[in-house]
Amino acid sequence: MRLLLPQNCLLCGADAGDAVLCTPCLADLPLHDSPACPICAQPTATHSVLPYPAAPEHNPGEVCGACLRHPPAFTRSVSAYTYRFPLDKLIPALKYHHQFAVVDVLTAPLVARVASASLPDVLVAMPLHPLRLRERGFNQSLLLARRLAARLQIPLLEHTCQRIRDTAPQTGLPVKQRQANLRNAFVCTDAVANKRIAIVDDVMTTGSSLDSLARALLRAGAADVQCWVSARAVMP
Ligand SMILES: [Zn+2]
Ligand SMILES: [Zn+2]
Repeated sequence: MRLLLPQNCLLCGADAGDAVLCTPCLADLPLHDSPACPICAQPTATHSVLPYPAAPEHNPGEVCGACLRHPPAFTRSVSAYTYRFPLDKLIPALKYHHQFAVVDVLTAPLVARVASASLPDVLVAMPLHPLRLRERGFNQSLLLARRLAARLQIPLLEHTCQRIRDTAPQTGLPVKQRQANLRNAFVCTDAVANKRIAIVDDVMTTGSSLDSLARALLRAGAADVQCWVSARAVMP
């Protein structure tokens, strides 16, 4: 039925045909394509040895100070969008209002961006704690991961990682406290042993959750961990 009935754009209400966003709103989405730290995807200065402007998938940013001082457990991060308006509307629309059609919008730039690099062996989704899963009914990161797995033809390990500590809500806590809460928050089975893995998540804010999950994956024997996110919050 959805294909037969004209829809209204989720953001501006204009006629969107059979799509979730109208063409102008789709074209206005803030792609995360300025030079950024290859490890954590924070915008940084341009890498001096690369020609500029380079294609966004070449990610010609320098490694940021934070990653130099405290290298995270993951080696690379790729984000589809910068987390600002209207991503702060689109991601909650998926998470809390069951707008599943948003999954395509949130994953399409990632497909394009990661396809040019060497792909991981398997994907895992950032797990929700069972209590949150029961509240929400689904894991939004798993929906994103399933779409990416299908489009890129990479296996998705759905039952390999578990969140064993209910760390939510993390918002508003100081970074130190967040990290303490997240220590040993995840366990992974040895299905990841010797595999190169990409973790799929909706939003990367401080990167603490992704770092904690990456550590758990490495403890379980993973060879390498990178992060694929729909939106990257830019830290001041
Ligand atoms: Zn619109
Ligand atoms: Zn960095």
